[in-house]
Amino acid sequence: MSGIDTSEAEEIIRWSLAKYDDAIMTTGLNLSGTVLLDIASKAGFTGKLIFVDTGYHFPETLHFWQDLEAKYDCVSFVKLSPKTETGFLFETDPVKCCQINKIAPLDEYLSITKPSALINARTRESARGRFGLHLVEDGSPAHINPLVSFSRLDLEEYAKTNHLKVHPLYVSGFLSMGCWPCTKAVRPGDDQRSGRFFGQGRTECGLWGTLGSQ
Ligand code: SF4
Repeated sequence: MSGIDTSEAEEIIRWSLAKYDDAIMTTGLNLSGTVLLDIASKAGFTGKLIFVDTGYHFPETLHFWQDLEAKYDCVSFVKLSPKTETGFLFETDPVKCCQINKIAPLDEYLSITKPSALINARTRESARGRFGLHLVEDGSPAHINPLVSFSRLDLEEYAKTNHLKVHPLYVSGFLSMGCWPCTKAVRPGDDQRSGRFFGQGRTECGLWGTLGSQ
C-alpha cells in the first residue's frame, strides 16, 4: 500500500488505456520508470514496454531490465537496438551518437507500429526543461505523463512502501540513468538530470523533442 496518493496517476492511466487501446510505455529504467511500471500494471496496463538498448548501458541496467521482465510478466517487454556499431563516436560527436543509437531505433519502431499514445515517466521536477509538462499532451502520438506532479521524494516513498527494487546504481547517486560514457552520479541538491551528458551542454538526448512533445 502506497503512502502517497497515486489516484490521479492511476486514473489517467485507466483513461488512456480506454481511449488508446494500443498505448505503449517507454522507459529509461529510472526510479520514475520503475514506479510508473508498478502503478500502470496495477491499473491494468498489459501493453508493450519499450527500452532502447544503445549498446552503451551499464551492465547493472541490463540486469535490472531482466529483473523487471521477470516480475511484470503481464507486460510485453520490447528491447530495441541500433542497426550499426558506432564505437567511440560518443567522444567525437555525441549528438550523432544519440541520433543513431537512441533516437533512430525508437523512431523506426514508432513509424512501423504507429501507436496512438506513449505513456511515460517524466516528471516536472526532474529537469528545468520539464516544468511545463502536462498530464496529457495531444499529438500523434499523444503523450501521457501520469507522474508529472510527483517529486523525487514521492517516488522514493512509493518505491519503499511498495517494496520495489530500484536500479542498483540509484543509491550511488545515479538519479537519471543513461549510457556509461555520458552519465555520472550527481551531488546532493543538483538537478536530477545534471549527471546526464556531462560536459556536453545538454541534459536531453533529443528524443522527446523528436517525438513532438516539447
Ligand atoms: S548517451 Fe552517450 S553513449 Fe549513449 S547514445 Fe548518447 S552519446 Fe552515445
